[in-house]
Amino acid sequence: MINYKSGFHLHNFIAKQRKLRKTIGFVPTMGALHQGHISLITQAKKECDIVVCSIFVNPTQFNNPEDLVKYPRTLEEDSKLLNAADCDVLFIPSVSTIYPKNGPKFKAPAVGKILNVLEGEHRPGHFAGVMQVVSLLLDIVNPTHLYMGLKDFQQFAICSKMVELQNRKVIMRGLPIVREMNGLAMSSRNKRLSDQAKKDATIIFKSLALVKESLPNHTIESLRELAVNKIKKEKTATLEYFEIVDLKTLEPSKKKTDLIALTAVWFEGVRLIDNMLL
Ligand code: AMP
Repeated sequence: MINYKSGFHLHNFIAKQRKLRKTIGFVPTMGALHQGHISLITQAKKECDIVVCSIFVNPTQFNNPEDLVKYPRTLEEDSKLLNAADCDVLFIPSVSTIYPKNGPKFKAPAVGKILNVLEGEHRPGHFAGVMQVVSLLLDIVNPTHLYMGLKDFQQFAICSKMVELQNRKVIMRGLPIVREMNGLAMSSRNKRLSDQAKKDATIIFKSLALVKESLPNHTIESLRELAVNKIKKEKTATLEYFEIVDLKTLEPSKKKTDLIALTAVWFEGVRLIDNMLL
């Protein structure tokens, strides 16, 4: 695996590969890698000639400064996992590489209402930071394919819209959520949880699964109540939101088709998100 810290050198390397008509799969991450991330690398390896993974803990997407400080950083283990997955290129830029002083000001495209609901409502400024970093990384990496996890469903929807509005020629690939055996969605943030909290947090998956299996016999509002009550019964959980919405608009729906349930729940001061297509 080749390591690049310089965006300029990586960009030149990619330009050479693209002249040779190689396809480039890109997997942007914030590190503390787990099998969820590796599933993206594995799929990219199947579909592309060259796979680039970036590790960059992006300060502009953290609406909570404490969360940024506490974000796990495990570069040595990450490197080993990427090597084992046969990743071709690791890009580890510094903050000043991505955000140079006097760099051009980012103008976010108008992606519409999906920006301000759910995570957008609960984490003001978060998606502005995500769009900014993804856009800057795409300028540097210039991939043919971009791989993202549906664990961050709204992020995938917003980035897909952004890429479309920016007229980028990149194929978007959204891949399924990878879970622990007990159902807990894999997340870098799980590293901050005690073993007990990791068990308690399975209530998130259980409530999503309950909603999915109860769909035929309930109204959308009573499904939501079922899930909220189930999560609230878990004493160590603090529910931030649980919503059932249309999977395209992310707005409330009257139809019982094309729905997705999304939730954010806190355990031991750690904010976990998860979702399930219904
Ligand atoms: P992050 O490092 O959290 O920014 O995540 C980098 C990419 O990995 C994003 O596209 C995430 O959606 C994806 N990802 C994170 N966790 C999972 C998971 N459990 N299953 C699938 N994809 C994931």
